Amino acid sequence: MKRLVILGGGYGGIKVLSGLLENYLPDDIEITLIDRNPFRSLKTEFYTIAAGTVADSEVRVEFPEDKRVQYMFKEVTKIDTENNKIIFEDPEDTLHFDYLVIGLGCEDNYHGVKGAIEYTESVQTFSKARHTGVAVGNLNAYGKVTVVGAGLSGIEVASEIRESRPDLNIRLLDRGPTVLKAFDEKIQNHVERWFITNDVDVIHHSNVEYVEKDGVCNNGVCYLNDVTIWTAGVRPVYLVRELPFEKDMHEKIIVNEYYQVPEQQNIFVLGDCAASELSPSAQLAGAQGEQLAEVLLALFRGKTPRKPRPIKLRGTLGSLGKSDGFGNMMTMPMTGLLPRLAKSGVLWLNKRH
Ligand SMILES: Cc1cc2nc3c(=O)[nH]c(=O)nc-3n(C[C@H](O)[C@H](O)[C@H](O)COP(=O)(O)OP(=O)(O)OC[C@H]3O[C@@H](n4cnc5c(N)ncnc54)[C@H](O)[C@@H]3O)c2cc1C
Repeated sequence: MKRLVILGGGYGGIKVLSGLLENYLPDDIEITLIDRNPFRSLKTEFYTIAAGTVADSEVRVEFPEDKRVQYMFKEVTKIDTENNKIIFEDPEDTLHFDYLVIGLGCEDNYHGVKGAIEYTESVQTFSKARHTGVAVGNLNAYGKVTVVGAGLSGIEVASEIRESRPDLNIRLLDRGPTVLKAFDEKIQNHVERWFITNDVDVIHHSNVEYVEKDGVCNNGVCYLNDVTIWTAGVRPVYLVRELPFEKDMHEKIIVNEYYQVPEQQNIFVLGDCAASELSPSAQLAGAQGEQLAEVLLALFRGKTPRKPRPIKLRGTLGSLGKSDGFGNMMTMPMTGLLPRLAKSGVLWLNKRH
């Protein structure tokens, strides 16, 4: 028997798994999927957990049951590529692999800002998002929240908290001259207006110097603050960063067109862990997962895999609370209820596939 281990059942890993299970698999292949959680986490919705606006159960999905796949719900602590082994919290507990897919996602990048690790909340894992939700939910009336970073996740977190708690004083620290630097001007203006109308204080040209238990210091000004949420950048998880493979400037592993690590061709990487010309997203991870499943199926059948086609993304959607949003739909910048409904539709599809 040959064992394929899929590390991470997120947007990329699950697509690899479902792409394989939808097909005939040779009898000598066994699949093990490993994730710390005994369910699929819908990370794109973690802002709702951080704001306390939906129940946890709305943001998780059961893994598919199939006798061809075994699950291990454990925390991975090391990937031993020299000996083809996965190591867990108990170092006695190891798992050998013949083929490995790494889809472990990303974690916060604190860019060396002092106090950020210790004193900021996060939305990068289910448990951290839940911790954030408790911290925000427990705030006294008129408590102060600062969100550091005005990319997609920072915008969604700040607006969802505003809708959840109209009493709170919310501040959004944005490094650039406008929020959402990767988006169209029409979208940027709409989001800026939403924050003005909804009394969220956006501070542009921010440069956070350090974070303390009860405050954030930015450009020489320290704001007293109760909860600080970090959404100012991500990097691949540490397990991936410490692997002895070539990486790009974002610390992501460089793979070939088959998602294979050139230095060790039984290892494949995708999603937020793999270098790509396209920006990291759930959509990209999913599309890569579909292609990687085809590559693996060909290899398992002793055939030469077909070269995957360049991936075309359908655009990004974001929310401003429950009834407003924005996004590029069919390359058209859209704002308001329509992109918000489209985002809910994408979530609905994700939960049912
Ligand atoms: C608030 C927020 C909003 C977002 N909104 C959007 C959006 O609207 N559209 C979009 O396309 N993208 C969005 N993203 C980005 C998107 O979520 C990621 O790009 C996507 O999840 C990457 O998929 P992945 O498969 O690489 O990793 P993930 O989906 O993160 O999956 C990684 C999996 O690995 C598991 N794992 C990690 N470490 C370990 C370990 N040590 N041991 C065991 N298991 C482990 C995790 O539990 C997880 O299931 C958003 C992100 C955030 C935080």
